[in-house]
Amino acid sequence: MWNKFENMLFMLRKRGVQVVIDCPFCDITVEAMEKGVVTVYLDEIPDQKTTLLECPKCGEAIGAQQRMIYFNDTLDWGRAIRVWPTPQRILTESLPPVVASSLDEAERCFTGKAYLACAVMCGRVVEAICKDKLPNSRNLAGGLKALLDSQIIDNRIHEWGDALRIHRNIGAHATDVQITKEDARDLLDFSIAICDYIYVLTDKFEEFKKRKQS
Ligand SMILES: [Zn+2]
Repeated sequence: MWNKFENMLFMLRKRGVQVVIDCPFCDITVEAMEKGVVTVYLDEIPDQKTTLLECPKCGEAIGAQQRMIYFNDTLDWGRAIRVWPTPQRILTESLPPVVASSLDEAERCFTGKAYLACAVMCGRVVEAICKDKLPNSRNLAGGLKALLDSQIIDNRIHEWGDALRIHRNIGAHATDVQITKEDARDLLDFSIAICDYIYVLTDKFEEFKKRKQS
């Protein structure tokens, strides 16, 4: 077991020169070069790394952190979170636990290259939102429609949610249809955007309106 981990860690060290991150200067996602790394170990296994990155487009410096993720008996660095110059928000802290755990699991599936499972988990994110907002909703399609009818989401978010529902069904049933890495990435991005819209931006806007009225 230990040898297996050692091997994986060796491969990660060899490979770990590029990190996918949102560049705040270019406002796009880039594969940035690692220029310097500090790794923190827990019981001799890497637990977290802080990296100085260089954006390949604008050449600016970006600071990022990644945690080690254990999935299906393998380990790999999780998604990089920007900590400098402007720290990226950690979305899951604003979500109800059932939504946060589904989104977290979807990210783990993506990192673990389990794209079908990622699609299923992205569907579970929307299902969890429906359960949280409308506890009486019976199925995902009905729940999404009810969210739309009660104006918790608008038409576009409903469309994204429906795409997640359809791909959840593709992922959950034993057919020949595959979910590609690109599809899984998009589904994950839609899930994050829906959570952001419902649990972060909507509250923020309501507070903004309240401040303007007072
Ligand atoms: Zn850049």
